[in-house]
Amino acid sequence: MKHTNPSGSKIKKCTLCSVTLEPKEVDSSKGNCYISNYNNRIYKCNKCFNMYLSNQVKKWRKNKTVGSSQHLADMVESARQRARKHNIPCTLTSQDIRDIITDRCPILGIKFELNKQGQDWGKGKGKNNWQTSPSLDRIIPEKGYVKDNIIIVSLMANSIKNQATPNQIQKVATFYKKLYNERGITYGN
Ligand SMILES: [Zn+2]
Repeated sequence: MKHTNPSGSKIKKCTLCSVTLEPKEVDSSKGNCYISNYNNRIYKCNKCFNMYLSNQVKKWRKNKTVGSSQHLADMVESARQRARKHNIPCTLTSQDIRDIITDRCPILGIKFELNKQGQDWGKGKGKNNWQTSPSLDRIIPEKGYVKDNIIIVSLMANSIKNQATPNQIQKVATFYKKLYNERGITYGN
């Protein structure tokens, strides 16, 4: 739906910061012209509108729970983006994920949680627990995000597996177990 600011109307000001707005079409993203909710006479400049948007995103993120529609839609969207980037197939739908998502990582047994700190993940202590985030793993990476080729595992399990084969993962595990043992290191035990 498109509204236009009637030409010849009075000069509009941003309802929030009072900056003068150019009378332009709603949905235009150039200049100080973003007019939101025109019928209620609430006008927002680009800056205020962007701030409003990012607050909305924060709010959505806060309300997002494991397996919620928003969560599944976000997973599909990020799968699409990664598929495009790596030029691999992606036919995944929210329903495909809904069909297989569990509440725990099937590998590490940890309970899935969503990182609610946005871009800051990994930086804080405890709170930004990226390891427990559910993530899509492509069983065979090249086959892409196709229903029968994905499982949902914790980001920790996913980052360990990455592109490695089971044999390689086992070798890494054996190596570190032996090394830690020889050096009397108890890290991770
Ligand atoms: Zn403003």
